[in-house]
This record gives sequence, C-alpha cells and structure tokens, in this order.
Amino acid sequence: MLQLIQNAHSFPEKTAVVEENHHHTYQDLLDRSALIARSLLAGKKDLDQERVAFMVAPSFDYLAIQWGIWRAGGIAVPLCITYPFPSLQYVIEDTQASIIIASPEFEEILSPYTGNPNIKFISLAEFQHVKESPLPDIERERGAMILYTSGTTSLPKGVLTTHANIEAQISTLVDAWQWTCGDYTLSILPLHHVHGIINVNSCALWSGATVEFLAHFDAKAVFDIFIVGKVNVFMAVPTIYFKLIAYYDSLPRSEQFELNERMKTFRLMVSGSAALPVSVMQKWHQISGHYLLERYGMTEIGMAISNPYAGERRAGHIGQALKGVQIRICNEEDQPLPLDHAGEIQVKGPNVFKEYWGKKEATQKAFTKDGWFKTGDIAVMEDGYFKILGRDSVDIIKSGGYKISALEIEEVLRKYPGIKDCSVVGVPNEEWGEIVGAAIIAEATLEEKRINNWIRERMPSYKTPRKYIFLEDLPRNTMGKVTKNELKKLF
Ligand code: ATP
Ligand code: MG
Repeated sequence: MLQLIQNAHSFPEKTAVVEENHHHTYQDLLDRSALIARSLLAGKKDLDQERVAFMVAPSFDYLAIQWGIWRAGGIAVPLCITYPFPSLQYVIEDTQASIIIASPEFEEILSPYTGNPNIKFISLAEFQHVKESPLPDIERERGAMILYTSGTTSLPKGVLTTHANIEAQISTLVDAWQWTCGDYTLSILPLHHVHGIINVNSCALWSGATVEFLAHFDAKAVFDIFIVGKVNVFMAVPTIYFKLIAYYDSLPRSEQFELNERMKTFRLMVSGSAALPVSVMQKWHQISGHYLLERYGMTEIGMAISNPYAGERRAGHIGQALKGVQIRICNEEDQPLPLDHAGEIQVKGPNVFKEYWGKKEATQKAFTKDGWFKTGDIAVMEDGYFKILGRDSVDIIKSGGYKISALEIEEVLRKYPGIKDCSVVGVPNEEWGEIVGAAIIAEATLEEKRINNWIRERMPSYKTPRKYIFLEDLPRNTMGKVTKNELKKLF
C-alpha cells in the first residue's frame, strides 16, 4: 500500500482536516477515499494509469479525491480552480483525461465536457454508497500525478511524478523540517502546485498532523485564524508575506501586539516558489519573531535546497542541498564547477520527476547525458549557502559581455525610499544585446536620475537600469510570480 495511505492507519482517530468548523479524522479520509476509489473503478479492477482530472476547491473532499484516484490506480490531474476555460481545456486535452470530477460550483465551466463520449463526467455529489470490493495494489514506480509548471517562462508543462518520487519529496521534507503529529498548519496555497500539495498538505498528512483550510484567502482571515492559537506551521509565497505585512501595518497597536505574541509560539514559517526579498524577511522577523525558512524547489523535483531548520537562516540565500538530493553547479557544457562559481543548478535523486507528459523531446533536453536534471536556475555558493542569481532565460541579463543578475538589482532597488516593489528584466538592444530595464511600483513620484545616482553608489555602473517604466502592478501568475516575458513586452 502507498506509504501516505499506510501511515494514516496509525492515527485513525486524529483530526486530519478542519474546514469551516467541520472536523474530519484520518479514518474519515481513508473511508471517503476508498469510496471514491471504488466509485471511479465502477467494476474495473484497476484504473491503470488513466488520467483523472478534478476541479474542486481545497478541502477535505479535495484530498479524499486525490487519495481516491491513487487508490484506484489512476493518475491525479488537479485543475486550477481560477483558470478560465481555455487553460482548463489545455490541461484536460494535454493529459487526455478519461474522467473529470467537478464540485457543483465548477460544473458549469466544465459543461462543454458533459456530453463528450470519451470522457466520463462525474459530479462530486455522485460519490454516494458503493459495494465493498478490493482495491488494486499500486506499485511505487507507477505514475501518480501530473502537475503543470507555473508557466512563468513559457506554456506550462505537465510534469509526471511517480509515487516513489512523491514519497521521496515528502519524506525528505518531513525529516528536514521535523514535522510531527502534533503540528497544525493553515493551508492557503493552491493545490495544483507542489508548494501547496506536497510541502503543506502531504507533509502534514504523512505525519498525522492537522490541516485547516481557509475558504478564501485574505490577510485578515489568516490573522483571525492565527489568533485562535492552534496553527504552528505556516507556509506561503513571498507575495503573500508582503500582503500580510501590509495588513499588519494597518492594524491598531494592541492587535499588532497580540498577533506578535501569538506568532512567536509558532514552530515554523516557510517561504518559497520565488525569491524572498531581504526586506520582507527582515520585516517579517520584526512582526513574528521568526526568520522565514527560505527553500528552493520546482514542480519537476519537489524541494531540493533549503535553509536549515536548526541553524542560521540566511536572508537572500536558499541554504544547502536537502538530504537525499544531489546538487551540482555546472557551466553551459554541463561540466561541474566549484560551488563558489556561478552556474546552473543540476539535480539528481529519487525526488526527480519521470517525464514531461507527452513531451519526449522536452524531457530529453531537460537532462544531461549523465542523467542530471537541468533546472535552468543559476546559483552560486557563498559561505556555505546557495544564492539564486535567477533563471537563465529571464533573470540573467546579457549586456555588453556582462552577465547581470536581475535579482541582485531588484534587491538594491527595493531599498530605495518610495519604491514599493520592482522587477528587472533584459530589454533587447542593438548595441548592447540587452540593457537593464526596471519596472517600478512607486509609492511617490520618483525621478529616474536620482534612482540611478543612488544605485551607482551601490553597484557597478553597468548594472544601472537604462530604462524605467512605472506601473500600478506587476504581471503575475497564480503563484504570485512575476511573468517576466509579459513584463518585457511592456518596455
Ligand atoms: P515554468 O517552468 O512553466 O516557466 P516555473 O518554473 O515558475 O514555470 P515552478 O515549477 O512552479 O514553475 O517553479 C519553479 C521555479 O521557481 C524554479 O525553477 C525557480 O526559478 C523558482 N523558485 C523556487 N523557489 C525559489 C526561491 N526560493 N528563490 C528563487 N526562485 C525560486
Ligand atoms: Mg520551470
């Protein structure tokens, strides 16, 4: 039996999920997922890798469906609940899903599939009573899940992971971040990316901890739950910490104090999915007493590098290789470099995905001849801690023979008074190849010349932006990451 499900038998009476004051035990999760599995099988012995797409808000039912698909032998394909129809269609057709499950609120958007002869459409309400029947035995090397990359650099790619991959991803984190059955986490991230489904939910369920779901994210709702005093583990992306800080700043002193006292009692607070600005890390420490634990990962590999649980969590750095994950830094010819040289992060280990679904060529291109996964992220080790310089494709600006890290310039710009947020990209230029372009979200009227003088005092002049645009907001995807290819078009 799959380890995640096996584990649940050790703590059947414990609360697995809390949602809108409903409590569901691990036994409830086992029972509901078995019922869903039998219902999906509908007399068959095994779904045998059929893709089952499902559109359900994060909830007890969501997790029961995911487990149910696994227990029936299918591959789980979660659909993002905020996608417009064409994006849903892309995923459903790319995976050739044979079954679609929808909760009532999503039946309408998926209605074009209700009459499709090749797809069985199941409404969540249809999972009622089914006869007891044996469930198939699932080998760990089978495909378990197809998650799509965030689509930050190009069209999202379907990433197929096996049960063995997922188990490696979960057990490494449970170990590194010391999850226990006493933990209680608040789940606010979407579940169609590893951050939400693996790091938060699956690590909690693996350990016998409790997951509370928030129906709709807003900063007030998060703090209202924090104040109750049950949550002790919290994970989010940098933009969410940014929003929480802004809301905290608007609260009266007494409420701030109360929150501050509460958050001090947390066991762990984590940030990832995009670079955590140093200023956000510092401010969060002031209001919560916690140094955010920043880690680095991808849909293709789960988590690979993490700041230590015990020990210094260094701002602007992602830490060291997680246990069981091999990391090397390579040049453009895939030759390993000393770790204190900037190069591409390459990864090997049981956590690394099986293939890009239906994309043989892309899969082949993603691995070196000797089997290392090429992340496309550039990093360097400083003082024993890896630091991300950015993505090869969009964050490394190639200007007049120099390679410039956009993230490094962003870090400096954010310190300029009146700059609320910013994003730096390479703008094509005949003379230089690319020049540095900065998109600024300003709180006040700012003068480019002054900003540049200020930067020149802090960085070599070739890193100074040659082009500025001022925006109300940065273009972002559902994980809150800036879509730099979109942004480039605005220059
Ligand atoms: P796509 O592959 O479709 O372009 P994506 O790479 O954003 O999208 P994900 O797999 O969700 O899709 O994100 C992984 C990427 O997120 C990493 O390759 C890295 O660039 C970035 N990332 C993750 N954690 C961090 C971090 N702590 N600091 C900086 N970047 C990070
Ligand atoms: Mg990617």
